[in-house]
Amino acid sequence: MIGLDPGIEEMLRHPRRTVEVAVPVRLDDGTLHTFTGWRVQHSRTRGPGKGGIRFHPDVSLEEVKAMAMTMTWKCALMEVPHGGAKGAVKCDPAGLSDAELERLTRRYANEIMPLIGPGRDIPAPDLGTGEREMAWFMDTCAASSGDSAWSFVTGKPAGAGGIGERREATGLGVAACAKVAAKGLNLGRPPLFIICGYGEVGRATARFLCAEGWTLVGVSDLSGGIHNSRGIDVDALDTELLTGIELVDSRAGVAVSCDEALALPCDILIPAAVAGVIDAANAADIVAKLVVEAANDPTTAEAEGILGELGVTVIPDMIANGGGVIASHMESFKDASAGVDATDGMTNSRIRATVVRALEESYLFAIDHDTTLRCSATAIAVRRVAEVHQARGLYP
Ligand code: NAD
Repeated sequence: MIGLDPGIEEMLRHPRRTVEVAVPVRLDDGTLHTFTGWRVQHSRTRGPGKGGIRFHPDVSLEEVKAMAMTMTWKCALMEVPHGGAKGAVKCDPAGLSDAELERLTRRYANEIMPLIGPGRDIPAPDLGTGEREMAWFMDTCAASSGDSAWSFVTGKPAGAGGIGERREATGLGVAACAKVAAKGLNLGRPPLFIICGYGEVGRATARFLCAEGWTLVGVSDLSGGIHNSRGIDVDALDTELLTGIELVDSRAGVAVSCDEALALPCDILIPAAVAGVIDAANAADIVAKLVVEAANDPTTAEAEGILGELGVTVIPDMIANGGGVIASHMESFKDASAGVDATDGMTNSRIRATVVRALEESYLFAIDHDTTLRCSATAIAVRRVAEVHQARGLYP
């Protein structure tokens, strides 16, 4: 579709650099345990690497390589001057104390430090890591280098170099995508929607869309789901969750299973949990006409085929959840301005505009080439990276 040079295609199949590190950590009981970690830089052609750090017991090197490649395409699509990278440590954060997690984060940061930095590769949070880990990471780089080191990572706490918009950035982009796509459904009333995975991204998305007058009819997390055809009151739900009530026990709706929540009558389904939640076994039960992928990789390839046959449009993750990487870039911009937030007030409007532009460009490309939005978004992103390769040439 894009006339890609076969040599460049072959080159882009391989990450540019893959590093495995041993991460020895003294556990609280005095024993020494060595974890395995990685940092993969898929491409730095359009700028320094960008991508999260995942702490998860099941993560593998192959998965980290795939996620690093996806970051290359996402950064190109979101028009941020970064390449793609990803890092991980194979560990179960839930089974480690705070002190053990801090030692693990600091040792991992120390091991990959020669690879990272503002002009090289800038990590960020991912599953199992957050602002706290990013603050430890940055502090370790500062202690080791003697520099202030704000710019070594993004996703830092707001008082320690971060930006306030980061937390809701991904949800804002998802909501912007959903709003534009919903117009195409011509419903004649505010849409009914479901959030599968009521975590940081799911909650922010629900709030933005409810504020537009949309009706949240179903929501789920690991505890199960709830259904309310008249609309779930997110303020009431959040208040209950804050007091320790499980989502499935909330009085904001009637309890349903996670699979039942996916198949509730609605117009738009927003998976915001983990990979592979929509699979070949449940895809045909989905009633929604539109799926907006807030999570990374929530729809398996088989499920996407089934949804396509049923006439369900899927807005792929690399468009829908790109708001987070734009906010990360704005944080780097602030770091480069010695902490002065020159981006003040620009982040949210940039997220909305860029995500919608990526959706519209992908839509037109998909019509022209009779293909899916995922295929067209990938093609546009690959073409942008390939053009920069061609312009820069090869050295030596
Ligand atoms: P989170 O951990 O805050 O929330 C995840 C939620 O999903 C939790 O409520 C969890 O209980 C729920 N969940 C897990 N498995 C489930 C299942 N099978 N069915 C229903 N609910 C389930 O994570 P988050 O930061 O909100 O990220 C959610 C997704 O969005 C992830 O796939 C992540 O990679 C992706 N993402 C996040 C960001 C970001 O800025 N946080 C950016 C881009 C992509």
